[in-house]
Amino acid sequence: MKIKGLAMLGIGKIGWIEKEAPKCGPLDALVRPIVVAPCTSDIHTVWEGAIGERSDMILGHEAIGEVVEVGELVKDFKKGDKVIVPAITPDWGSTNSQRGFPMHSGDALGGWKFSNFKDGVFAELFHVNEADANLALLPEGMDPVSAVMLTDMTTTGFHAAELANVELGDTVCVIGIGPVGLNSVAGANLMGASHLFGVGSRKNCCDVARAYGATDIINYKEGDIIEQVLQKTNGLGVDKVLVAGGTVDTFDQAVRMLKPGGAIGNVNYLGSGEYIRIPRVEWAVGMGHKSIVGGLTPGGRTRMEKLASLVETGKYDPSKLITHKLEGFDAIEEALLLMKDKPRDLIKPAVVINW
Ligand code: NDP
Ligand code: ZN
Repeated sequence: MKIKGLAMLGIGKIGWIEKEAPKCGPLDALVRPIVVAPCTSDIHTVWEGAIGERSDMILGHEAIGEVVEVGELVKDFKKGDKVIVPAITPDWGSTNSQRGFPMHSGDALGGWKFSNFKDGVFAELFHVNEADANLALLPEGMDPVSAVMLTDMTTTGFHAAELANVELGDTVCVIGIGPVGLNSVAGANLMGASHLFGVGSRKNCCDVARAYGATDIINYKEGDIIEQVLQKTNGLGVDKVLVAGGTVDTFDQAVRMLKPGGAIGNVNYLGSGEYIRIPRVEWAVGMGHKSIVGGLTPGGRTRMEKLASLVETGKYDPSKLITHKLEGFDAIEEALLLMKDKPRDLIKPAVVINW
C-alpha cells in the first residue's frame, strides 16, 4: 500500500510524495493523524538545512491521531484509540534513557525521530515505536486542536523552565515569546516565578504572554534588552533566563542580565552560526556560578499524561496558542508555509483532518 505525505525533498525544497506504507513492529503502532501542526523546527530543517541534507523525508512531528494498527506485544492501546503522539519518541531501553536522558536515546537528539531521521506525521499513516511507552490516550472530551500543542510546544517551553530550575519567587526573563517561549512563560509561572519578563514584539504573542503570567513585556526592537531588564530590576538582573528565540548572540545577552548563581535554560534550535560567545567579564571571569543548559524536550507517554492533567484541571490552557485553524490533509502545506512566513498575527497554525 502507498501513502501520501508532505516531504523535504532536499534543502530548501518541499513537495508531496508517495511512499510505501510503514510496517508495524511487535511493540509499535501505526497511526493516522487527526490534527497536526507545523513547527519552527521544520523550517530550520528544510530552509536552513540545519540538520543536514535529507531527501524525500516526510515532515512534521506534532500530531493527535487515531490508532490504525498495533503490534502483538502492545498492551494498552488498540485500533480506534485517539492518542497524543509526542514529538519525541525515545527508545526506552537505551543506555542514555537509563541515564535519565531519553531524548538522547541512542545518540544525541536520538529521541527526536519524526522528521529528523524517520518519516514524520504529515502523512496519511505514520509509525510510532514502542507504543505503550510513547503514546498517551487523548482524555475524553479534550479538544484535539488544543491537545496537539502538548506534543511539542508545551513540553518544550516548560522544559526551558525545568532546565533553569525556576524556583518560587524567582525573577525570570523569557527571551522569545513565540509558541515555545509562551509556554516557557506559562511553565515558569506554574513553577512560581514572581517578576516574569517576556521578550518579543508580536502583539498577539505579547497578549498571550500576559495571560500566561508575564508581568512585563520587553520589546527587543525598541532598545537593548539588557538595559531594559536591568532598569526593571534596579540593576540587579534576573535569577533565571529562559531562551526560546533570538540568535547565537542571545546567550551573550542572557549572561549579562543574569545574577551570579543564576541559570540559563535554552530550548532554542540554533539553526546557523558556528560558535556561541560568552562574555568573559560578565561571566565573572569564569567564576560566577552562572550555568547554561540547553536541552531537547522530553517526550514519551508519562510526560504527555502529566501535561494533559494540567489542561484537565484548568491550570493551563493551550487553546490560546492557535491563531490559524485550517481544514483538510492538503492544507498541511499552507500551514507549513504560514510557519515559514510568520505573518505578524500568527502564533501557531493547526490543521484538522477529517478522513
Ligand atoms: P518563533 O519564531 O515563533 O518565536 C521566536 C521568538 O523570538 C519571537 O517572540 C520573536 O519575536 C523572538 N525574537 C526573534 N529575534 C529576537 C531577538 N533578536 N531578540 C529577542 N527575541 C527575538 O519560534 P517558536 O516559538 O516556534 O520556536 C522557538 C524555537 O524553539 C525555535 O528555534 C524552534 O526550532 C525551537 N524548538 C525547540 C525544541 C526543543 O525541543 N528544544 C522543540 C520545538 C521547537 P517576535 O515577536 O518579533 O516574532
Ligand atoms: Zn518541534
